Formats: sequence, C-alpha cells, structure tokens
Amino acid sequence: MYLAKQRGRNQYLVFDVTQDRHLQSTHQIANQVRTALKSDHLTLYYQPKVNLRTGEIMGMEALLRWIDPERGIIPPLDFLPQIEHSDLIVDIGEWVIDRTLRQLREWNNAGKSWVVSVNIAAYHFQKPEFLDRLKHLLARYPQVAPESLEIEILESVALGDIHHAKQLITDCQALGIQFSLDDFGTGYSSLGYLRRLPANTIKIDQSFVRDILDDRDDLALVEAVISMGKVLNRKVIAEGVETSEHGVLLIRLGCDLAQGYGIARPMPADQVLAWADTFVADPVWSTWANVAWEIKDFPLLVAQQDHLQWVRRLILWVENYHAAFNEHEVADSHACRFGRWYDGEGRQRYGQLAEFLAIAPTHEALHQLGLDIVQYCQSGERQRAIDACAHLLTLKDEIIGYLSVLQKAVMQATSE
Ligand code: C2E
Ligand code: MG
Ligand code: MG
Repeated sequence: MYLAKQRGRNQYLVFDVTQDRHLQSTHQIANQVRTALKSDHLTLYYQPKVNLRTGEIMGMEALLRWIDPERGIIPPLDFLPQIEHSDLIVDIGEWVIDRTLRQLREWNNAGKSWVVSVNIAAYHFQKPEFLDRLKHLLARYPQVAPESLEIEILESVALGDIHHAKQLITDCQALGIQFSLDDFGTGYSSLGYLRRLPANTIKIDQSFVRDILDDRDDLALVEAVISMGKVLNRKVIAEGVETSEHGVLLIRLGCDLAQGYGIARPMPADQVLAWADTFVADPVWSTWANVAWEIKDFPLLVAQQDHLQWVRRLILWVENYHAAFNEHEVADSHACRFGRWYDGEGRQRYGQLAEFLAIAPTHEALHQLGLDIVQYCQSGERQRAIDACAHLLTLKDEIIGYLSVLQKAVMQATSE
C-alpha cells in the first residue's frame, strides 16, 4: 500500500515479502540517520586536495561520517544509498553545506584561502528550490566568499537531465560557486555532453587512477580525460592517488591536481590545520615539476607499463602454472610488447639517444633469465625458479631506471 501511494496512488501492487523486508530495513536506517542528524552524531571529515607540481594545498573535500555511540564511525556508503531518494538527503545536504561554510569561516580566519567541496546527491540537486536554499545558506555566512565553495555532483547526475544541470550550474556559478563532475569516467558522457556542461572541474574516478600503474587501458583512459579537460579548458583532478608513483605518473601526464590516501586520508576538522602546517609534498614530484610531456611521447609510458606487466605475468606463471603466459614472449626479446615498441616506434623516435640504446642489453638479459626460469619450472626446480625471480626483479628495476632517465631526457628536450 505504501509503495502504491508513493508511486502516485490509484494503482495496486502485489505484496512481495523480500521487497517488504528491504523496505523495512531502509525505513529503519532512515529513522536512525534522522535521529543521528538531530542528535549531532553526523560529522564531516576533510580530505586535502593538492597541487603535485607546486606542493600547494588547494582545498579540501568534505566527506560525511556518522559517528554512532555504539557502532563507531560509519562510512557514507553504508547509509546514504538507503536514503538518497528521500527528503532526508536534502536535510543532510543542507546540513553539510552549512557546516562547510562555517568551517570555511574558521579556516579563513586562520588565514587559509582554501576551496572546500561538498557532495550533493541527485535528488537534492534536482529539487526546484535548490538554488534559493543555497542563497539562503550563503547569506548566513557573509564573511565567506562563495568562490570558496565547490559543489560536486556525479557525472551521471549531470547527464540525467542535462538542460536542468546546465541551467543550475550556470546559476550557481553566477553566485560565485564552483562545480565539479565527480567520479568522471563512470557515466559514459560523450565529448559533446561535456562541452555543454559548464562544470569548472573534472574529477577522474579513483577506479581508473588506482590502476594506472598496472593497467594500460586505465592509463590510456586517464590520459584521454586529461587531454579532454585541456581541450575544454577545465581543471582536472585525480582522486585515489595512493602512492608517490601515482603522483609522478599524473604529473607526467599533465594532471597536477590530486587527492588520495597517498597525500592524506580524510580527517576530522580539528586535525586539518596541524596537518597543513606539517605537510611537505613528496620531493620526487618536484623533480618532474618543470618538464613538459608531449602527447607524442605517451607510448613511452605505455611501453613501461607493458614491461612491468610482462615481469608480473612471468612471476605469476612461476607461482601458478595455470596463469596464461605465452612462452614465445619469453624466448624472443623482440616478441614481447615492450620489445615490439623498442624495435619499432621507440627506435624511430629515440634511436639517436644513448639512454635509449642502453636499454637493449639489459632487456636481452632479462629475456635470457626469463627463459632459464621457464626451464627451471619445467624441470621441477621450483626453488631455483623462485630465486631467479629475485634477480629478474633487479633487472626490471634497471630497465625502469633507464626508462626514467630516457623520459627525463625526452621531456627536457621538449621543454627546451
Ligand atoms: P567521493 O565523493 O568520490 O569521495 C571520495 C571517496 O574516496 C571518499 O570515500 C574518500 O575517503 C575515498 N578516497 C579518497 N582517497 C582515496 C584513496 O586514495 N584510495 C581509496 N581507496 N579511497 C580513497 P568516503 O568518504 O567513504 O565517501 C564515499 C562516497 O560517499 C563519496 O565518494 C560520495 O559519493 C559519498 N559522500 C560522502 N560524503 C557525502 C555527503 O556529504 N553527501 C553526499 N550526498 N554524498 C557523500
Ligand atoms: Mg566527491
Ligand atoms: Mg569521486
């Protein structure tokens, strides 16, 4: 009955026990969250966003946490999905904006001119009164410049009703507020759509960023989003930067803004200033800071990933004979993906550079060792194969070292 009423009345629905249980639990969670909101058990954590190239802290993202006296910290995805289609998500969204503006006032007073972003759910964003309510909230904090508030909406939400999204984004921007498309890459937007959406920033989804070090498709996708951002004159930020190497690769790809555990985890508001005072960007990032990377040199990065993947697959094969591995790729140093790049496009483009030519003997030795490893495995000398893998990793590091020098040489040549 409840569902039939919710769907506009004047209809009947067949009672479904499983669905009923689901509804009940959704109902229960909604009640608990409502109580948590009233009892001040919701709080915001803040995760820094930094410029990798300059080491500057650009701002923060406000992330909701439910601190339950009995259950401890409950992450947002454990309860927001159950309420995201109800007015409770609007109340929470407004509470988040209010708290963030209050926090901005405090940080402004401490001399920090950060931009802080909030996540707004689709249901909230689509409310006709969204803009008026936002103006009302901003009016409560006249000391806070609207330019320091940013709204993040999911790429998929913006695509849902592009006319509405476009209008609302434009209206908010007229107030000074900035807009970001969150989880970009998961919503299938075409270039045409993106061009029509006036969002200031594109946030590359962490699922792609996390795997750029291992997965050439994700690397290519991230590279494409960065180029697209440049063409359309948008800022691009990468989320899910978990390690120093992610940062290095992103700088090389031309994406300077980043957020992720490798920089800082989300933290309570009262820890932020102390964190900011002691934050020092990874020194490795600044070594890549002043070099420009040309799109033509992108295959060089892909070649590096191919090499890493080859080594990883061979080791997997040693650990588990069933892993798919083509022995031909081991026997012939010209047949692996890296080898094909080296002999072809690589030689054509960098063949005159000493750093490039230096790679060949080590690559050859790597394959010879790979062949030995395969033979040890086949003759049952397992331990010998495992020991040889350690040596294989040393050779891999050597090649990565050569590639790194080559990449720097190429980038310096480009920027001169
Ligand atoms: P999001 O907006 O994409 O936020 C980024 C999420 O990734 C956060 O999870 C953050 O803690 C996590 N994260 C950041 N860096 C890394 C990293 O290097 N590795 C990994 N594995 N994760 C990282 P969190 O705080 O659990 O939030 C999850 C999602 O919940 C958010 O995704 C956002 O969609 C939603 N959310 C959070 N707060 C709010 C809110 O106040 N309102 C609404 N409507 N949604 C919110
Ligand atoms: Mg977000
Ligand atoms: Mg995201």
